[in-house]
Amino acid sequence: MIGSVSAGAGIKRFLCLALSSGLLSGIAAHPASAADCPGHPDALGTSRTLVVDPREHPRIGAMQYAETLPLNDHEVVLTFDDGPLPRNSNQVLDILASQCVKATFFIIGRMAQAYPEGVRKLVDAGHTVGTHTQNHPLSMDRMPIEHAKQEIDDGIASTAAALADPTVLAPFFRIPGLLRADGVEDYLASQGIQAWSADFLADDWRHISSSRVYDLAMKRLEDKGKGILLLHDIQARTVAALPRILHELKVPGYRIVHVVPATAQQPATPTEPQQWQLHPVSEKVAISHWPKIPNFVFASAETLPGPSDLHWFEAGTSDHARSLPYGVPLSPGTAGPRAALALNEDATDLPIPSADIFTIPEKSFAAIAPPTRRAGPPIVAEGETVGRAKLTSADAGYGARGVRGKSRSGRFTRGGAHIAGHGRRGSLKHLVQVRKRSV
Ligand SMILES: [Zn+2]
Repeated sequence: MIGSVSAGAGIKRFLCLALSSGLLSGIAAHPASAADCPGHPDALGTSRTLVVDPREHPRIGAMQYAETLPLNDHEVVLTFDDGPLPRNSNQVLDILASQCVKATFFIIGRMAQAYPEGVRKLVDAGHTVGTHTQNHPLSMDRMPIEHAKQEIDDGIASTAAALADPTVLAPFFRIPGLLRADGVEDYLASQGIQAWSADFLADDWRHISSSRVYDLAMKRLEDKGKGILLLHDIQARTVAALPRILHELKVPGYRIVHVVPATAQQPATPTEPQQWQLHPVSEKVAISHWPKIPNFVFASAETLPGPSDLHWFEAGTSDHARSLPYGVPLSPGTAGPRAALALNEDATDLPIPSADIFTIPEKSFAAIAPPTRRAGPPIVAEGETVGRAKLTSADAGYGARGVRGKSRSGRFTRGGAHIAGHGRRGSLKHLVQVRKRSV
């Protein structure tokens, strides 16, 4: 079993097996479609299976990288992070099954350890299963590379250990909070693992209503016309929004694409290099593609964030001069909006604003769904403070810099990672609650 060997050796072994055995081809052998969705004649279905070779395209996702999946217009790839959490993840599975839709899930190792049956259910349902670290640290952009490697290796080992056949695990990985770093990506590439960013979000980790999640998903998809959508199967609001999202995707003719890794028996889908380059490095071309004002956060400014630890905004300080204003660090060489670069560069020199700047008017919370926090022990109080303040500071154009006049992002990030379980002090309950407040 993969779980009984060292993580590094285990990864190499399972990847080798996965790429050479052809067992993964079983995932792609029977793509669902609306035509063969028993009992659901009006199902959205899965229109095709896209087979990708991580070694040819090690980094994907237009939010951060020069390449993204070679999708045709109106094609959508659904991805779900942070599970499995049975209460909500099982509902997501049922909803996807009702529409015969296949998706990709990025599993947290500790969640797989706690709920191995949840991982097996994903595989049994024919979904693609990748990984998302062991503890979901929100500091991979600055942690020592050996630490980052351990997070990656352990997450894979824990997820693989949950499976009867670990070779079905896809060599797909998403960095928590999309807090990318060259060293992390280089390590992933050296292991034949594909780093997945996303093309657009629906902000479903924020304290917004499920209808808002639906609105954001559809509007952003409409803006882009296609792409990789990042969602969270652990979120109740996502469970509530998903049926409507899937139903409405069908109306204008969107089609679901299921992505699987290439194997010896199932080679990569033939594509042309330019199909992967949605945002060419050429600045002239890039400007025509990128919105002048990034819409991921600012277009939804009327819905202020709840006290979530939205750690996107911890990125993009000293190590990442090229970051989007919402804090997602861009990969070097990736074309991005000039305005975003200017904002971030300015942000690195801004003074730390006083706490009252971050006060959100009480009435602003009127449109926000009640926070999910329940009575009980304090939950990630530090993270909440960080997330709220940083998100607000980013909205205010300050970028990711110190908050509440007492700290800087690095310190908070380490705190967030610690809460997420690095120091062995975070319980699983903590981990879940942290996950439900972050990406
Ligand atoms: Zn995550």
